[in-house]
Amino acid sequence: MTKNNPEQLPTDKVGSVLVVGAGIGGMQAALDLAESGLLVHMISEESSIGGTMSRLDKTFPTGDCAMCMISPRMVESSRHPNIKLYTLSKVKNVSGKAGNFIVEVTQAPRYVSSEKCTGCAACEDACPVKVPNSFNQDQNKRKAIYALFPQAVPNTRVIDQDNCLYLTRDVCKKCVKVCDAEAISFEDKEKTIELKVGAVILNPGLTTYDPRPNREYGFGKHQNVLTSLQYERLLSASGPCTGEVVRPSDKKHPKKIAWIQCAGSRNGHNGNNWCSSVCCMYAAKQSVITKEHDSEVDTTIFYMEQRTFGKDFDKFIERAKNDHGVRYIRSMVSEIIEDPETKDLFIHYVDEEGKNINEQYDMVVLSIGFEPHKNSQQTSSIFGVDQNDDGFVQTSRLSPTKTSSDGIFVSGIYEGPKDIPETVTQASGAAAQAMELLSDSRGSLVEEVNLPPEKDTHKEEARTGVFVCHCGINIAGVVDVEAVASEVLHEPGVSHTENIMYACAPDGQQKIKDIIEDKGLNRVVVASCTPRTHAGLFQDTIREAGLNKYLFELADIREQCSWCHQNDKEAATRKAIDIVKMTVAKTRLFEPISTDSITIDPTALVIGGGIAGLTTSLSLANQGYKVELVEKEEKLGGLLLNVHKNLEGDEIGPFLQETIENVSSHSNITIHTNSEVETSDGFVGNFTSTLNNGKELKHGATIIASGGKEYIPEEYGYGDSEKIITQRELEAELADQSFVPNNVYVMIQCIGSRENPFNYCSRTCCQDALKNAIALKTNYPETEITILYRDMRSYGLKEKYYKQARDLGVHFFLFTPEKKPKIVESENGLSVLVYNNVMNKEFELYADSIVLSTGLRPSDEVEKLVKLFKLTCNDDGFFMEAHVKLRPVEFASEGLFLTGLAHSPKNIDETVNQAHAAAGKAGALLSHTSLTVSGIIANHNRDLCMSCLACFKACPFGAPFLDEDGKISHNKAKCTGCGICAGVCPAKAFQINNFKDDQILAMIDAVSHTKQ
Ligand SMILES: Cc1cc2nc3c(=O)[nH]c(=O)nc-3n(C[C@H](O)[C@H](O)[C@H](O)COP(=O)(O)OP(=O)(O)OC[C@H]3O[C@@H](n4cnc5c(N)ncnc54)[C@H](O)[C@@H]3O)c2cc1C
Repeated sequence: MTKNNPEQLPTDKVGSVLVVGAGIGGMQAALDLAESGLLVHMISEESSIGGTMSRLDKTFPTGDCAMCMISPRMVESSRHPNIKLYTLSKVKNVSGKAGNFIVEVTQAPRYVSSEKCTGCAACEDACPVKVPNSFNQDQNKRKAIYALFPQAVPNTRVIDQDNCLYLTRDVCKKCVKVCDAEAISFEDKEKTIELKVGAVILNPGLTTYDPRPNREYGFGKHQNVLTSLQYERLLSASGPCTGEVVRPSDKKHPKKIAWIQCAGSRNGHNGNNWCSSVCCMYAAKQSVITKEHDSEVDTTIFYMEQRTFGKDFDKFIERAKNDHGVRYIRSMVSEIIEDPETKDLFIHYVDEEGKNINEQYDMVVLSIGFEPHKNSQQTSSIFGVDQNDDGFVQTSRLSPTKTSSDGIFVSGIYEGPKDIPETVTQASGAAAQAMELLSDSRGSLVEEVNLPPEKDTHKEEARTGVFVCHCGINIAGVVDVEAVASEVLHEPGVSHTENIMYACAPDGQQKIKDIIEDKGLNRVVVASCTPRTHAGLFQDTIREAGLNKYLFELADIREQCSWCHQNDKEAATRKAIDIVKMTVAKTRLFEPISTDSITIDPTALVIGGGIAGLTTSLSLANQGYKVELVEKEEKLGGLLLNVHKNLEGDEIGPFLQETIENVSSHSNITIHTNSEVETSDGFVGNFTSTLNNGKELKHGATIIASGGKEYIPEEYGYGDSEKIITQRELEAELADQSFVPNNVYVMIQCIGSRENPFNYCSRTCCQDALKNAIALKTNYPETEITILYRDMRSYGLKEKYYKQARDLGVHFFLFTPEKKPKIVESENGLSVLVYNNVMNKEFELYADSIVLSTGLRPSDEVEKLVKLFKLTCNDDGFFMEAHVKLRPVEFASEGLFLTGLAHSPKNIDETVNQAHAAAGKAGALLSHTSLTVSGIIANHNRDLCMSCLACFKACPFGAPFLDEDGKISHNKAKCTGCGICAGVCPAKAFQINNFKDDQILAMIDAVSHTKQ
């Protein structure tokens, strides 16, 4: 692999990284590092990679299927030439120092050879032993020889040595007898492997709270009380009941289900101190999916505080309540009673009006919290990293991926509870830090990819293979997949059809490759899920089998068929057959496509000199790339210039100054203050931007770190009285040596947030209120402070500051948006009227000072940047990332990245994480000397073109341009293949590869014939 390594200095640092844990976090870090030219050793203690995400059904807030998102990542990780996988493995010992660690890994025996195993499952069928299936949370049984789950990677079964009859009692060996591949070897022994690595990333992930000790919920005693993870498996098509929600006690469909939040969280006496950050959203998701399964089910969520603080999360809750009818009750449930006859469950609670209620439910789901992985203590001591009192890795909030040991970084839940996008972001951020450390060794250990030569299929008749995927029951539960395969077998050009349980799983991939070879196929159609997540995977598969990768097409019979027509199986099958016939007709006319290569300028343009832009710039510069940093103000620092401390008490001023100094003195960084980008043109790897001072900058990547701004309140009389101030103003007063406190403070939350038209949580305001309240109470204990709140969103490990504030005597008083506090002024001064539900009356709180916790707004620059870089925003005006879950710091257009408040409101530590992540992603791109342009782009025929400029005006990406002769030409690197040019061109001078007119017409013909 050729690498853009500007200063290839002699180095004694090893160009490889150890990644511990292969969940979504570990895989993200591994893939980023591998792409940047470092060799990765990824360790998983389980028999497959995938972690917790492989156990989930769908994910919030998009409702995307978790397995469908993670499965391509798993296959990509296992195929990447720069990633070496070690399953069933654990690190035993580590020595050395940053740049040069020696790691001793022990790998447990699998007893099945991955080289020989074909994944046929005959061994599993033959095995007589059945044990509880821990992957399905013990809700069904598995065999003693098993695959962790159907899409497991590697796709080699494993023998459970604690339950195998031969290994425990020296009898049986039925698996050996049925294995034609002779893959089973009981001689297999534990291995010790020594690895040399330059850096380590720890991402061992989470374990869930075990509610058994929490007796009042009756888990383990009452049959119909489940944990949320059990419920995820119950919802899942590959789960114990193939996606059918049934009560464990009688297998009946429950009609009334309750979720109890904070089971094992936010309660040090009977669980853990911290908030697990994710449960409020996953409970909403689970109840919405439940309604999708059966709209008749009544779903209720019992909660204390709704901590839905992420991007677009509050809107999701609104939809759950208003569109799906999910009932929310703010109440702490203390007990669940089971009816011994019916096994129904009774929840006793006090409602929001203070009434005692006893309500019957068919099933109860406990929203259990997260804990550090069960081995975390051992992992910390092996790697010599400090843990905090709660068992998470100790890091600074200002550098949240750095552990106490140099060269050892952390990401994911081992650092604190978080959801998938935050895990992915932090993993990319940790990878960026390792890239910085090992920048001189980049490319030193990576291997050349050797693909078989491409077969020349130009003159061949179409020999298409059609593979119809069951996707478990996702497709096969609705569509008659066998009928689809047999119906299309006789279509022109089809040589072979095949049904596959999971086409994206490793055995599915291997089957496709084998059949291409055996049947001499030269076109492939896979009828399965969405091309958005899976097309690339199948393209790589057919390329590995020697075919041009553009001779592949995906027929979406899941999103476009089985999911949307699940109530009409016959019609769904007819539609699936039509979709596949159309795809086959189109594919018959495919031709191999050759692609161009473009060079990459190893320079990044960073727009915005706040902490996000500064951190990204510094990280990229440390990785060895040139950075042009553009800031419109005179000074660097952005919003952080007005912040004195964070919630954890770190001094922000010195941290910011040090970062600015490091950026200013870095030889790879050029700073442009008082500057704005006026024009930008080009494409990934080759952009040219001009500043308002006329300076022209050339760059290969662009990072938007344009931040946001603080909301200036128009409500609650702000500006009318000196006694009404914002949290920021109070913070500035507190930092002033001559500060004299008032006696009584009333703070009001959610000013300018969580209400239309700004229906989002600004995320920082609850921490601001807690921070200032704690500072006041600690230094001036006689002050009286009341915080009026809707939900205190002290998520994750911030919960302890909520408790600290309460312990210090800060009062918390709930209000609802329907009955907001009112400020009244009388001769006695200011006071606040607050309505209390339970008492059904208004209270008057006297205040010397009213402090407004104001929200955040998108930057004023957004509109300009949208036009300049052709970006999109969500309804609130924050930039839209390429994929909410899996590509949180990338824009849809290649070479463009985003970070910080420009993406959504966030705290300093989260901004620093995301800034590193953007640097990691951009760094991985800039590490290449060249990049291959996509083949699915427009072809321009100059002989037909009249240069009418219709394409020129319509193309959102600026791909058509006027050349020196005043005629239209086409820039292939800018083209995204969207097809607008082909649609508007009156002369048909533009045709999109694989979407040419004759191919589209063939699709229409294919179904027109069917109908006749
Ligand atoms: C019920 C439930 C519902 C959820 N729903 C959502 C949702 O809808 N959306 C969302 O964004 N998030 C959701 N989450 C959270 C999400 O699952 C996590 O944020 C994410 O999976 C964390 O990924 P990870 O890679 O950090 O950890 P994990 O997925 O836990 O992976 C870590 C892996 O490392 C392995 N490991 C641990 N220690 C070692 C060691 N010493 N050596 C080698 N390997 C080791 C583990 O066995 C595991 O395979 C949910 C979680 C739960 C429990």
